[in-house]
Amino acid sequence: MTVMSAPRCTLVGAGPGDPELLTLKAVKAIANATLLLVDDLVNDAVLAHASPQARIIHVGKRGGCQSTPQAFINKMMIHAVQEGEQVVRLKGGDPFIFGRGGEEVEHLRAAGIEVEVVNGITAGLAGLSSLGAPLTHRQHAHGVVMVTGHAQPGDIGTDWVQLATTARQAKLTLVIYMGVSSLAHISHGLLQGLPAHTPVAVVQHASLPTQREALTTLGELAQTVQREQLQSPSIIVVGDVVQGARAWAALPKRSQKAA
Ligand code: SAH
Repeated sequence: MTVMSAPRCTLVGAGPGDPELLTLKAVKAIANATLLLVDDLVNDAVLAHASPQARIIHVGKRGGCQSTPQAFINKMMIHAVQEGEQVVRLKGGDPFIFGRGGEEVEHLRAAGIEVEVVNGITAGLAGLSSLGAPLTHRQHAHGVVMVTGHAQPGDIGTDWVQLATTARQAKLTLVIYMGVSSLAHISHGLLQGLPAHTPVAVVQHASLPTQREALTTLGELAQTVQREQLQSPSIIVVGDVVQGARAWAALPKRSQKAA
């Protein structure tokens, strides 16, 4: 029997793709939802936790269709909550790392709606972990910058030269989301502040059976991605921590499995 609770919206992070990376809290929220609004990068396998009575609406760009405009999604969420539905907004990775979670929360709160956020494992973390390397390391990286490679229309975008200079001086790992389509521009800027031999990992479809990756250097990044035909969704990790992924890749397969 379902216990009735106050109508509200829950923003749930579905993780990078592998359905086993869902949190227990996410599973519970998905199971309790009467309406699920699902983003593109969410693996359909997580919907197995939804109630058979729940309505599921995909709001991404699946099947080459246009994605649902953000303003419409906001209205749909507010309306459904006001109608008494238990709404779950399912997002890839973590709801508060890109993916407009912050904007959605602002709209819901402005409409007087209670919002809960359930964290998910962000793709930037899952990407390098899947190659056996950390994002921070006492010797190699004192911190992490998560940055988008996609500039908003009318926005000048990230100053890659400045970012690379800071990353070098402060020993920071750069984790670039949505970067593959602007790689020539990004690597051109980064090369003005970081050495060409800086290790880089590119991971497409992190944590999924379709995962592909390349280990390269900043100087060869653009050519490598083109040659290997790595595409979106991919994570690009720049920094000395990527050496850990090289060491892991060099291990004989048997010891990787035993680890
Ligand atoms: N909220 C998400 C990010 C949304 S932005 C998160 O926390 O992961 C979308 C970008 O995330 C993609 O362009 C890509 O850069 C990255 N991404 C999402 N899922 C990914 C995956 N499984 N493998 C590699 N990159 C992924």
